[in-house]
Amino acid sequence: MTAQLYIDGSWTDAAQGRTLETLNPATGEVITEYAAGSPADVDRAVAAARKAFDEGPWGPDSSPRERATILFRAAEIMRRDKEKLAEMETRDNGKLYSDALEDISESAFMFEYYAGWTTKVAGSIPPVGPEAMSLIIKEPVGVAVLITPWNYPVLMASQKIAPALAAGCTAILKPASPTPLTSLELARILEEAGLPAGVFNVLNGTGSSIGDALVTHPGVDKISFTGSDEVGKRITKLAAESMKRVTMELGGKSPNLVFSDATLDEAYEGSAVGIFYNQGEVCSAGSRVLVERSIYDEALEAMSRYAAGLKLGDGMDPETTMGPLVTAEHRDRVQKYIEIGKESGARLVFEGDMPTTPDLLGGYFVPPTIFADVDNQMTIAQEEIFGPVMAVIPFADVDEAISIANDSIFGLAASVWTNDITKALKVSKALRAGIVWINDTQPAPSEAMWGGYKQSGVGRELGPWGLESFLETKHIYVNLEG
Ligand code: NAD
Repeated sequence: MTAQLYIDGSWTDAAQGRTLETLNPATGEVITEYAAGSPADVDRAVAAARKAFDEGPWGPDSSPRERATILFRAAEIMRRDKEKLAEMETRDNGKLYSDALEDISESAFMFEYYAGWTTKVAGSIPPVGPEAMSLIIKEPVGVAVLITPWNYPVLMASQKIAPALAAGCTAILKPASPTPLTSLELARILEEAGLPAGVFNVLNGTGSSIGDALVTHPGVDKISFTGSDEVGKRITKLAAESMKRVTMELGGKSPNLVFSDATLDEAYEGSAVGIFYNQGEVCSAGSRVLVERSIYDEALEAMSRYAAGLKLGDGMDPETTMGPLVTAEHRDRVQKYIEIGKESGARLVFEGDMPTTPDLLGGYFVPPTIFADVDNQMTIAQEEIFGPVMAVIPFADVDEAISIANDSIFGLAASVWTNDITKALKVSKALRAGIVWINDTQPAPSEAMWGGYKQSGVGRELGPWGLESFLETKHIYVNLEG
Protein backbone atom coordinates (compact mmCIF):
# COMPACT_ATOMS: atom_id res chain seq x y z
CA MET A 1 0.00 0.00 0.00
CA THR A 2 1.30 3.45 -0.90
CA ALA A 3 0.70 6.06 1.79
CA GLN A 4 -1.14 8.90 0.09
CA LEU A 5 -1.21 12.68 0.40
CA TYR A 6 -3.98 14.29 2.44
CA ILE A 7 -5.53 17.24 0.62
CA ASP A 8 -8.91 18.90 1.20
CA GLY A 9 -10.13 16.10 3.43
CA SER A 10 -9.28 13.35 0.90
CA TRP A 11 -6.55 10.76 0.60
CA THR A 12 -5.04 11.15 -2.81
CA ASP A 13 -2.13 10.08 -5.01
CA ALA A 14 0.39 12.69 -6.05
CA ALA A 15 -0.58 14.59 -9.21
CA GLN A 16 2.40 13.21 -11.11
CA GLY A 17 2.12 9.77 -9.50
CA ARG A 18 5.57 10.09 -7.92
CA THR A 19 6.43 7.92 -4.93
CA LEU A 20 9.34 7.60 -2.52
CA GLU A 21 10.33 4.85 -0.09
CA THR A 22 10.77 5.25 3.62
CA LEU A 23 13.31 2.97 5.32
CA ASN A 24 13.81 1.57 8.81
CA PRO A 25 17.16 3.08 9.88
CA ALA A 26 17.90 0.18 12.24
CA THR A 27 17.98 -2.32 9.37
CA GLY A 28 17.96 -0.36 6.11
CA GLU A 29 14.80 -2.23 5.06
CA VAL A 30 11.94 -0.55 3.19
CA ILE A 31 8.91 0.10 5.41
CA THR A 32 6.57 1.39 2.71
CA GLU A 33 6.19 3.59 -0.34
CA TYR A 34 4.54 6.95 -0.06
CA ALA A 35 3.16 9.55 -2.45
CA ALA A 36 5.56 12.42 -3.10
CA GLY A 37 3.97 15.70 -4.10
CA SER A 38 4.84 18.14 -6.88
CA PRO A 39 4.02 21.85 -7.38
CA ALA A 40 0.61 20.82 -8.79
CA ASP A 41 -0.21 19.23 -5.42
CA VAL A 42 0.97 22.39 -3.68
CA ASP A 43 -1.60 24.35 -5.72
CA ARG A 44 -4.34 21.90 -4.72
CA ALA A 45 -3.44 22.02 -1.04
CA VAL A 46 -3.11 25.81 -0.90
CA ALA A 47 -6.44 26.25 -2.71
CA ALA A 48 -8.14 23.99 -0.14
CA ALA A 49 -6.53 25.71 2.84
CA ARG A 50 -7.25 29.16 1.37
CA LYS A 51 -10.94 28.33 0.85
CA ALA A 52 -11.32 26.87 4.36
CA PHE A 53 -9.77 30.03 5.77
CA ASP A 54 -11.47 32.69 3.61
CA GLU A 55 -14.94 31.14 3.40
CA GLY A 56 -14.89 29.00 6.57
CA PRO A 57 -15.43 26.75 8.40
CA TRP A 58 -12.07 27.83 9.93
CA GLY A 59 -10.49 31.31 9.84
CA PRO A 60 -11.30 34.53 11.71
CA ASP A 61 -15.02 33.88 12.01
CA SER A 62 -14.79 30.31 13.29
CA SER A 63 -15.97 29.48 16.77
CA PRO A 64 -13.15 29.26 19.35
CA ARG A 65 -15.20 26.69 21.26
CA GLU A 66 -15.55 24.46 18.23
CA ARG A 67 -11.84 24.71 17.52
CA ALA A 68 -11.17 23.74 21.15
CA THR A 69 -13.52 20.75 21.01
CA ILE A 70 -11.77 19.32 17.96
CA LEU A 71 -8.28 19.85 19.38
CA PHE A 72 -9.25 18.23 22.69
CA ARG A 73 -10.69 15.27 20.79
CA ALA A 74 -7.49 14.96 18.73
CA ALA A 75 -5.46 14.77 21.94
CA GLU A 76 -7.72 12.01 23.23
CA ILE A 77 -7.31 9.98 20.02
CA MET A 78 -3.54 10.45 20.13
CA ARG A 79 -3.44 9.06 23.65
CA ARG A 80 -5.69 6.17 22.63
CA ASP A 81 -3.38 5.33 19.68
CA LYS A 82 -0.10 6.10 21.42
CA GLU A 83 1.48 2.63 21.07
CA LYS A 84 0.73 2.45 17.35
CA LEU A 85 2.05 5.98 16.80
CA ALA A 86 5.19 5.40 18.86
CA GLU A 87 6.02 2.17 17.06
CA MET A 88 5.57 3.88 13.70
CA GLU A 89 7.81 6.74 14.81
CA THR A 90 10.52 4.37 16.03
CA ARG A 91 10.48 2.32 12.83
CA ASP A 92 10.56 5.42 10.62
CA ASN A 93 13.08 7.49 12.59
CA GLY A 94 15.14 5.00 14.61
CA LYS A 95 14.62 6.59 18.03
CA LEU A 96 13.93 4.56 21.15
CA TYR A 97 10.35 3.36 21.54
CA SER A 98 10.24 4.72 25.10
CA ASP A 99 11.30 8.16 23.81
CA ALA A 100 8.75 7.98 21.00
CA LEU A 101 6.03 7.28 23.59
CA GLU A 102 7.11 10.41 25.45
CA ASP A 103 7.01 12.42 22.22
CA ILE A 104 3.43 11.27 21.58
CA SER A 105 2.38 12.06 25.12
CA GLU A 106 3.86 15.58 24.93
CA SER A 107 2.27 16.06 21.49
CA ALA A 108 -1.14 15.13 22.88
CA PHE A 109 -0.57 17.60 25.70
CA MET A 110 0.24 20.32 23.15
CA PHE A 111 -3.16 19.80 21.53
CA GLU A 112 -4.81 20.09 24.96
CA TYR A 113 -2.73 23.10 25.91
CA TYR A 114 -3.57 25.04 22.75
CA ALA A 115 -7.20 23.87 22.82
CA GLY A 116 -7.41 25.76 26.11
CA TRP A 117 -5.98 28.89 24.52
CA THR A 118 -8.60 29.16 21.74
CA THR A 119 -11.10 30.79 24.11
CA LYS A 120 -8.55 33.03 25.77
CA VAL A 121 -7.05 34.98 22.89
CA ALA A 122 -8.07 38.49 23.79
CA GLY A 123 -7.13 41.92 22.55
CA SER A 124 -6.96 45.14 24.53
CA ILE A 125 -8.37 48.64 24.67
CA PRO A 126 -5.57 51.11 25.33
CA PRO A 127 -6.82 54.51 26.55
CA VAL A 128 -6.40 57.00 23.67
CA GLY A 129 -8.46 59.91 25.02
CA PRO A 130 -12.13 60.89 25.25
CA GLU A 131 -12.76 61.42 21.53
CA ALA A 132 -11.95 57.89 20.35
CA MET A 133 -11.76 54.25 21.27
CA SER A 134 -8.96 51.98 20.06
CA LEU A 135 -9.73 48.28 19.88
CA ILE A 136 -6.70 46.05 19.49
CA ILE A 137 -7.86 42.65 18.30
CA LYS A 138 -6.14 39.41 17.39
CA GLU A 139 -6.85 37.50 14.18
CA PRO A 140 -5.40 34.34 12.65
CA VAL A 141 -2.62 35.10 10.21
CA GLY A 142 -4.13 32.98 7.41
CA VAL A 143 -2.82 29.94 5.53
CA ALA A 144 0.27 28.55 7.25
CA VAL A 145 2.87 26.25 5.72
CA LEU A 146 4.47 24.09 8.41
CA ILE A 147 7.80 22.52 7.43
CA THR A 148 9.25 19.99 9.86
CA PRO A 149 12.50 18.04 10.34
CA TRP A 150 12.97 14.30 10.81
CA ASN A 151 14.40 14.18 14.34
CA TYR A 152 11.09 14.60 16.21
CA PRO A 153 8.55 14.09 13.44
CA VAL A 154 5.33 13.98 15.44
CA LEU A 155 6.46 16.39 18.16
CA MET A 156 7.73 19.10 15.79
CA ALA A 157 4.58 18.77 13.69
CA SER A 158 2.29 19.01 16.74
CA GLN A 159 4.26 22.00 18.03
CA LYS A 160 3.14 23.86 14.91
CA ILE A 161 -0.25 22.29 14.07
CA ALA A 162 -1.81 22.74 17.51
CA PRO A 163 -1.15 26.51 17.85
CA ALA A 164 -1.89 27.13 14.15
CA LEU A 165 -5.31 25.48 14.31
CA ALA A 166 -6.04 26.97 17.74
CA ALA A 167 -5.36 30.44 16.35
CA GLY A 168 -7.81 29.79 13.51
CA CYS A 169 -5.22 29.36 10.75
CA THR A 170 -5.53 26.65 8.14
CA ALA A 171 -2.40 24.66 7.42
CA ILE A 172 -0.32 22.58 5.05
CA LEU A 173 2.23 20.33 6.73
CA LYS A 174 5.34 19.31 4.82
CA PRO A 175 7.16 16.61 6.80
CA ALA A 176 10.81 15.71 6.21
CA SER A 177 11.15 13.08 3.50
CA PRO A 178 12.92 10.41 5.63
CA THR A 179 10.04 10.36 8.16
CA PRO A 180 6.65 10.82 6.46
CA LEU A 181 4.50 8.33 8.36
CA THR A 182 3.36 9.80 11.68
CA SER A 183 2.45 13.10 10.01
CA LEU A 184 -0.07 11.22 7.89
CA GLU A 185 -1.38 9.66 11.11
CA LEU A 186 -1.91 13.16 12.47
CA ALA A 187 -4.16 13.87 9.48
CA ARG A 188 -6.12 10.69 10.23
CA ILE A 189 -6.44 11.68 13.88
CA LEU A 190 -7.63 15.21 13.10
CA GLU A 191 -10.10 13.83 10.57
CA GLU A 192 -11.50 11.45 13.20
CA ALA A 193 -11.64 14.34 15.66
CA GLY A 194 -13.98 16.12 13.26
CA LEU A 195 -11.69 18.65 11.61
CA PRO A 196 -13.45 19.91 8.48
CA ALA A 197 -11.97 19.30 5.00
CA GLY A 198 -9.29 21.71 3.81
CA VAL A 199 -8.32 22.99 7.26
CA PHE A 200 -5.30 20.69 7.55
CA ASN A 201 -3.40 19.11 4.65
CA VAL A 202 -0.29 16.93 4.50
CA LEU A 203 2.04 17.11 1.52
CA ASN A 204 4.91 14.68 1.63
CA GLY A 205 7.82 15.09 -0.74
CA THR A 206 11.37 16.37 -0.86
CA GLY A 207 12.21 19.97 -0.11
CA SER A 208 13.82 20.33 -3.51
CA SER A 209 10.65 19.28 -5.34
CA ILE A 210 7.94 21.18 -3.43
CA GLY A 211 9.78 23.53 -1.06
CA ASP A 212 10.01 26.54 -3.33
CA ALA A 213 6.43 26.11 -4.58
CA LEU A 214 5.16 26.14 -0.98
CA VAL A 215 7.30 29.02 0.18
CA THR A 216 6.61 31.34 -2.75
CA HIS A 217 2.92 30.52 -3.23
CA PRO A 218 0.83 33.73 -3.25
CA GLY A 219 -1.94 31.96 -1.31
CA VAL A 220 0.32 31.34 1.68
CA ASP A 221 0.59 33.90 4.51
CA LYS A 222 2.97 32.29 6.97
CA ILE A 223 5.86 29.83 6.99
CA SER A 224 6.74 28.06 10.20
CA PHE A 225 9.97 26.17 9.62
CA THR A 226 12.08 23.86 11.76
CA GLY A 227 15.25 22.51 10.21
CA SER A 228 18.76 23.36 9.16
CA ASP A 229 20.26 26.83 8.93
CA GLU A 230 20.98 26.42 5.26
CA VAL A 231 17.37 25.71 4.30
CA GLY A 232 16.05 28.22 6.85
CA LYS A 233 18.06 31.02 5.25
CA ARG A 234 16.89 30.06 1.77
CA ILE A 235 13.24 30.06 2.88
CA THR A 236 13.62 33.39 4.69
CA LYS A 237 14.97 35.02 1.52
CA LEU A 238 12.21 33.57 -0.66
CA ALA A 239 9.48 34.44 1.84
CA ALA A 240 10.70 38.04 1.98
CA GLU A 241 9.69 38.53 -1.67
CA SER A 242 6.04 38.62 -0.61
CA MET A 243 6.70 39.53 3.05
CA LYS A 244 5.28 36.28 4.37
CA ARG A 245 5.51 35.92 8.12
CA VAL A 246 8.24 33.48 9.13
CA THR A 247 9.19 31.55 12.23
CA MET A 248 12.54 29.81 12.06
CA GLU A 249 13.67 27.10 14.47
CA LEU A 250 17.18 26.23 13.30
CA GLY A 251 20.35 24.48 14.36
CA GLY A 252 22.66 24.83 17.31
CA LYS A 253 26.06 24.13 18.81
CA SER A 254 24.97 24.41 22.37
CA PRO A 255 27.47 24.80 25.22
CA ASN A 256 27.19 22.74 28.38
CA LEU A 257 29.19 24.37 31.20
CA VAL A 258 30.39 22.19 34.08
CA PHE A 259 31.79 24.06 37.10
CA SER A 260 33.79 22.29 39.80
CA ASP A 261 31.23 23.28 42.48
CA ALA A 262 28.42 21.31 40.78
CA THR A 263 27.01 18.01 42.07
CA LEU A 264 29.56 16.33 39.88
CA ASP A 265 28.08 12.88 39.24
CA GLU A 266 24.83 14.51 38.11
CA ALA A 267 26.71 17.06 36.01
CA TYR A 268 28.77 14.42 34.21
CA GLU A 269 25.79 12.18 33.54
CA GLY A 270 23.68 15.18 32.45
CA SER A 271 26.44 16.33 30.09
CA ALA A 272 26.56 12.90 28.47
CA VAL A 273 22.77 12.68 28.21
CA GLY A 274 22.77 16.15 26.65
CA ILE A 275 24.68 14.94 23.62
CA PHE A 276 23.94 11.20 23.41
CA TYR A 277 20.16 11.35 23.96
CA ASN A 278 18.24 10.70 20.71
CA GLN A 279 21.61 9.75 19.11
CA GLY A 280 22.61 13.41 19.27
CA GLU A 281 19.94 14.23 16.68
CA VAL A 282 18.68 17.10 18.81
CA CYS A 283 18.83 20.76 17.78
CA SER A 284 19.63 21.76 21.36
CA ALA A 285 22.13 18.92 22.02
CA GLY A 286 24.89 20.01 24.40
CA SER A 287 27.53 19.23 21.78
CA ARG A 288 30.23 21.49 23.30
CA VAL A 289 31.01 20.39 26.84
CA LEU A 290 33.01 23.08 28.64
CA VAL A 291 34.68 21.74 31.80
CA GLU A 292 36.56 23.61 34.53
CA ARG A 293 40.23 22.58 34.42
CA SER A 294 40.40 21.30 38.02
CA ILE A 295 37.87 18.52 37.24
CA TYR A 296 38.77 18.02 33.58
CA ASP A 297 40.34 14.51 33.79
CA GLU A 298 37.69 13.05 36.08
CA ALA A 299 34.94 14.54 33.88
CA LEU A 300 36.40 12.87 30.78
CA GLU A 301 36.58 9.58 32.63
CA ALA A 302 33.01 9.78 33.95
CA MET A 303 31.49 10.82 30.62
CA SER A 304 33.43 8.05 28.80
CA ARG A 305 32.10 5.57 31.36
CA TYR A 306 28.56 6.71 30.63
CA ALA A 307 29.14 6.40 26.86
CA ALA A 308 30.60 2.91 27.31
CA GLY A 309 27.37 1.84 29.01
CA LEU A 310 25.23 2.76 26.00
CA LYS A 311 23.90 -0.14 23.96
CA LEU A 312 23.31 0.50 20.29
CA GLY A 313 20.44 -1.34 18.65
CA ASP A 314 16.94 -1.27 17.23
CA GLY A 315 14.81 1.32 19.03
CA MET A 316 12.05 -1.30 19.40
CA ASP A 317 14.34 -3.50 21.53
CA PRO A 318 13.84 -2.53 25.21
CA GLU A 319 17.54 -3.26 25.87
CA THR A 320 18.63 -0.58 23.39
CA THR A 321 19.76 2.74 24.83
CA MET A 322 20.92 4.37 21.58
CA GLY A 323 19.32 3.95 18.16
CA PRO A 324 20.67 4.41 14.63
CA LEU A 325 20.92 7.73 12.80
CA VAL A 326 18.06 8.54 10.47
CA THR A 327 19.55 7.82 7.03
CA ALA A 328 22.72 6.41 5.47
CA GLU A 329 23.44 9.88 4.09
CA HIS A 330 23.25 11.48 7.52
CA ARG A 331 25.40 8.71 9.04
CA ASP A 332 28.07 9.41 6.39
CA ARG A 333 27.95 13.11 7.19
CA VAL A 334 28.45 12.47 10.93
CA GLN A 335 31.30 10.04 10.22
CA LYS A 336 32.96 12.70 8.09
CA TYR A 337 32.90 15.07 11.06
CA ILE A 338 34.52 12.38 13.23
CA GLU A 339 37.32 12.13 10.65
CA ILE A 340 37.65 15.93 10.63
CA GLY A 341 37.92 15.83 14.44
CA LYS A 342 40.69 13.24 14.31
CA GLU A 343 42.62 15.20 11.68
CA SER A 344 42.22 18.51 13.52
CA GLY A 345 44.35 17.37 16.46
CA ALA A 346 41.55 16.92 18.98
CA ARG A 347 42.19 13.95 21.29
CA LEU A 348 39.80 11.04 20.70
CA VAL A 349 39.15 9.73 24.21
CA PHE A 350 36.18 7.49 23.53
CA GLU A 351 34.66 5.70 20.55
CA GLY A 352 31.93 3.11 21.21
CA ASP A 353 31.26 -0.21 19.51
CA MET A 354 28.98 -0.88 16.57
CA PRO A 355 26.17 -3.40 17.04
CA THR A 356 27.15 -6.85 15.81
CA THR A 357 23.83 -8.71 15.50
CA PRO A 358 23.34 -9.76 11.85
CA ASP A 359 19.91 -8.11 11.40
CA LEU A 360 21.40 -4.71 12.31
CA LEU A 361 24.34 -4.82 9.91
CA GLY A 362 22.40 -2.73 7.37
CA GLY A 363 21.50 -0.11 10.02
CA TYR A 364 22.86 3.45 10.09
CA PHE A 365 24.66 3.33 13.44
CA VAL A 366 27.32 5.73 14.70
CA PRO A 367 28.70 4.89 18.16
CA PRO A 368 29.08 7.55 20.86
CA THR A 369 32.29 9.51 20.34
CA ILE A 370 34.12 11.89 22.68
CA PHE A 371 36.86 14.33 21.66
CA ALA A 372 38.90 16.07 24.38
CA ASP A 373 41.27 19.08 24.18
CA VAL A 374 39.05 20.63 21.52
CA ASP A 375 39.84 24.19 20.53
CA ASN A 376 36.64 26.19 20.13
CA GLN A 377 37.76 27.35 16.67
CA MET A 378 37.91 23.76 15.35
CA THR A 379 35.24 22.67 12.87
CA ILE A 380 33.86 20.09 15.34
CA ALA A 381 33.26 22.92 17.86
CA GLN A 382 31.75 25.37 15.38
CA GLU A 383 29.55 23.33 13.03
CA GLU A 384 26.42 21.41 13.95
CA ILE A 385 27.16 17.68 13.61
CA PHE A 386 23.72 16.43 14.68
CA GLY A 387 25.03 13.09 15.90
CA PRO A 388 26.52 11.49 19.05
CA VAL A 389 29.79 13.43 18.95
CA MET A 390 30.89 15.34 22.06
CA ALA A 391 33.56 18.06 21.91
CA VAL A 392 35.11 18.72 25.33
CA ILE A 393 36.82 22.06 25.94
CA PRO A 394 38.60 23.01 29.20
CA PHE A 395 38.20 26.46 30.80
CA ALA A 396 39.94 28.29 33.65
CA ASP A 397 37.26 30.54 35.14
CA VAL A 398 33.74 31.97 34.72
CA ASP A 399 34.79 34.68 32.27
CA GLU A 400 36.60 32.27 30.00
CA ALA A 401 33.67 29.83 30.12
CA ILE A 402 31.22 32.54 29.07
CA SER A 403 33.49 33.79 26.33
CA ILE A 404 33.98 30.31 24.81
CA ALA A 405 30.28 29.49 25.17
CA ASN A 406 29.21 32.64 23.31
CA ASP A 407 31.82 32.27 20.57
CA SER A 408 29.44 30.59 18.11
CA ILE A 409 27.15 31.66 15.28
CA PHE A 410 24.40 29.74 17.07
CA GLY A 411 22.44 30.56 20.23
CA LEU A 412 19.77 27.95 20.78
CA ALA A 413 20.42 26.44 24.21
CA ALA A 414 22.96 26.10 27.03
CA SER A 415 23.36 24.21 30.30
CA VAL A 416 25.08 25.45 33.45
CA TRP A 417 26.05 22.96 36.16
CA THR A 418 26.91 24.56 39.52
CA ASN A 419 25.53 24.72 43.06
CA ASP A 420 26.40 28.41 43.40
CA ILE A 421 23.11 30.14 42.62
CA THR A 422 24.71 33.54 42.09
CA LYS A 423 27.16 32.09 39.61
CA ALA A 424 24.38 30.11 37.88
CA LEU A 425 22.26 33.21 37.36
CA LYS A 426 25.19 35.45 36.39
CA VAL A 427 26.34 32.95 33.77
CA SER A 428 22.78 32.32 32.53
CA LYS A 429 22.28 36.04 32.01
CA ALA A 430 25.55 36.35 30.09
CA LEU A 431 24.89 33.44 27.75
CA ARG A 432 23.44 34.36 24.36
CA ALA A 433 20.97 31.51 24.09
CA GLY A 434 17.19 31.10 23.84
CA ILE A 435 17.08 28.67 26.74
CA VAL A 436 19.52 28.12 29.60
CA TRP A 437 19.09 25.05 31.79
CA ILE A 438 20.53 25.24 35.29
CA ASN A 439 21.56 21.80 36.55
CA ASP A 440 19.60 20.08 33.80
CA THR A 441 19.63 19.40 30.08
CA GLN A 442 16.98 19.29 27.37
CA PRO A 443 13.59 19.74 29.07
CA ALA A 444 11.26 21.84 26.89
CA PRO A 445 7.86 22.10 28.61
CA SER A 446 5.12 22.98 26.14
CA GLU A 447 3.75 25.67 28.48
CA ALA A 448 7.02 27.61 28.38
CA MET A 449 9.07 28.90 25.46
CA TRP A 450 11.41 27.65 22.74
CA GLY A 451 13.54 29.44 20.16
CA GLY A 452 16.98 30.61 19.27
CA TYR A 453 19.23 33.66 19.47
CA LYS A 454 21.59 34.51 16.61
CA GLN A 455 21.55 32.06 13.69
CA SER A 456 19.52 29.52 15.67
CA GLY A 457 16.30 31.14 14.61
CA VAL A 458 13.72 33.89 14.42
CA GLY A 459 10.60 33.98 16.58
CA ARG A 460 9.48 31.67 19.36
CA GLU A 461 7.41 28.51 19.70
CA LEU A 462 5.55 26.82 22.57
CA GLY A 463 3.50 28.52 25.26
CA PRO A 464 1.60 31.71 24.43
CA TRP A 465 4.52 32.75 22.19
CA GLY A 466 3.84 29.81 19.89
CA LEU A 467 0.23 30.89 19.53
CA GLU A 468 1.17 34.53 18.98
CA SER A 469 3.26 33.55 15.95
CA PHE A 470 0.05 32.47 14.18
CA LEU A 471 -1.81 35.71 14.97
CA GLU A 472 -1.99 39.16 13.41
CA THR A 473 -2.81 42.20 15.53
CA LYS A 474 -5.36 44.71 14.23
CA HIS A 475 -6.19 48.19 15.46
CA ILE A 476 -9.80 49.34 15.01
CA TYR A 477 -10.12 53.05 15.72
CA VAL A 478 -13.59 54.32 16.60
CA ASN A 479 -14.30 58.03 16.38
CA LEU A 480 -16.55 58.87 19.33
CA GLU A 481 -17.10 62.48 18.39
CA GLY A 482 -19.01 62.20 15.12
P1 NAD B 1 16.51 20.23 6.74
O1 NAD B 1 16.68 21.70 6.76
O2 NAD B 1 17.31 19.44 5.80
O3 NAD B 1 14.99 19.87 6.44
C1 NAD B 1 13.94 20.41 7.22
C2 NAD B 1 12.69 20.42 6.37
O4 NAD B 1 12.87 21.34 5.30
C3 NAD B 1 12.36 19.08 5.72
O5 NAD B 1 10.97 18.92 5.71
C4 NAD B 1 12.89 19.26 4.32
O6 NAD B 1 12.27 18.43 3.36
C5 NAD B 1 12.53 20.71 4.08
N1 NAD B 1 13.27 21.35 2.99
C6 NAD B 1 14.47 21.02 2.47
N2 NAD B 1 14.79 21.86 1.45
C7 NAD B 1 13.76 22.74 1.35
C8 NAD B 1 13.50 23.85 0.52
N3 NAD B 1 14.34 24.24 -0.43
N4 NAD B 1 12.35 24.54 0.71
C9 NAD B 1 11.47 24.19 1.67
N5 NAD B 1 11.66 23.13 2.48
C10 NAD B 1 12.78 22.42 2.33
O7 NAD B 1 16.69 19.74 8.25
P2 NAD B 1 16.64 18.24 8.78
O8 NAD B 1 17.90 17.59 8.34
O9 NAD B 1 15.34 17.62 8.48
O10 NAD B 1 16.66 18.47 10.35
C11 NAD B 1 17.80 18.71 11.07
C12 NAD B 1 17.98 20.18 11.35
O11 NAD B 1 16.83 20.67 12.00
C13 NAD B 1 19.14 20.45 12.27
O12 NAD B 1 19.86 21.57 11.80
C14 NAD B 1 18.46 20.79 13.58
O13 NAD B 1 19.22 21.59 14.44
C15 NAD B 1 17.23 21.45 13.13
N6 NAD B 1 16.20 21.41 14.17
C16 NAD B 1 15.92 22.55 14.88
C17 NAD B 1 14.99 22.53 15.91
C18 NAD B 1 14.69 23.77 16.72
O14 NAD B 1 13.70 23.75 17.44
N7 NAD B 1 15.47 24.81 16.64
C19 NAD B 1 14.33 21.33 16.21
C20 NAD B 1 14.62 20.20 15.47
C21 NAD B 1 15.56 20.25 14.45
